[in-house]
Amino acid sequence: MNRNKTRELLARHGISAKKSLGQNFLTDANILNRIVSAAQLGPRDGALEIGPGIGALTEKLAQAAGRTVAVEIDGRLLPVLEEVLAPYDNVEVVHGDILKIDLHGLVERHFAGVERLVVVANLPYYITTPILMRLLEEKLPIRRMVVMMQREVAERLDASPGTKDYGSLSIAVQYYCETDIVFGVPRTAFIPQPNVDSAVVSLTLRERPPVSVESEEFFFEVVQASFAQRRKTIFNNLLARYFGKAGKPKGTGGDPNRGKELLLGALQDSGIDPARRGETLTMEEFARLSGVLRKALAGHQSFG
Ligand code: SAM
Repeated sequence: MNRNKTRELLARHGISAKKSLGQNFLTDANILNRIVSAAQLGPRDGALEIGPGIGALTEKLAQAAGRTVAVEIDGRLLPVLEEVLAPYDNVEVVHGDILKIDLHGLVERHFAGVERLVVVANLPYYITTPILMRLLEEKLPIRRMVVMMQREVAERLDASPGTKDYGSLSIAVQYYCETDIVFGVPRTAFIPQPNVDSAVVSLTLRERPPVSVESEEFFFEVVQASFAQRRKTIFNNLLARYFGKAGKPKGTGGDPNRGKELLLGALQDSGIDPARRGETLTMEEFARLSGVLRKALAGHQSFG
């Protein structure tokens, strides 16, 4: 696919790109090749593409993987995909919304017997995070994701503690994956041009998380709460989340200082200075804190 071919296909099919669906079509063959090569696909592997658009990346995936399935929400693009993908008998386009479709069913139907399943996509930027979180939280048998996104989001995924980009998204993604920004992509590589630069990120799924937590749900809740207001200390963020603004234990009507004491105790037992901000805590520290706090809250609730 190149710029002329993209323009010609869109014009002939009477299609104008929909901004609301994040449609920015990649027109640079070199970048398409680099994405596919980062996915390290072989003939026994399966590729799941999200948002094939007019099939620029899909074509390359069909050449590299044993089987490719592409999920596209926009029905107007189906005839274009049919035309572009006609030479390949190992590709299937599924018309649907990646946020709603039954992903386990799709994987079972289309990828039974593949050696590795790899997600490859130039993601629709308006839903990058919900897509990634859905794919990760559903615990699908995915080996790797090579995905293009807004550069700024890529930097957040890949961020380390103590940096301005580090936040709950970094921890959520790094809990499941090893992250690597593979290369940057200028906005000029697309038709139409987006307002932001992009980056291709490789997310390799971990066999097991780097920290062990008793409740993933509570761990992620504590992480979220700790970043609720970035400029606040971890103590104040958690106090607001678990004990209301005044530090009054919710539902107990009891001593307003009990929440503060409990929280200070939990932070102390976790070896974390209450004056620190969430952005300085490592995943390890969040894991320790969530374990201690979960027990302390359970004790507190049975007490109150
Ligand atoms: N893969 C093509 C390329 O690289 O040129 C198109 C990428 S474009 C950035 C994003 C694609 O995702 C569009 O084709 C858009 O219609 C599709 N899309 C948007 N929301 C979607 C959703 N919820 N489910 C599936 N596809 C979606």
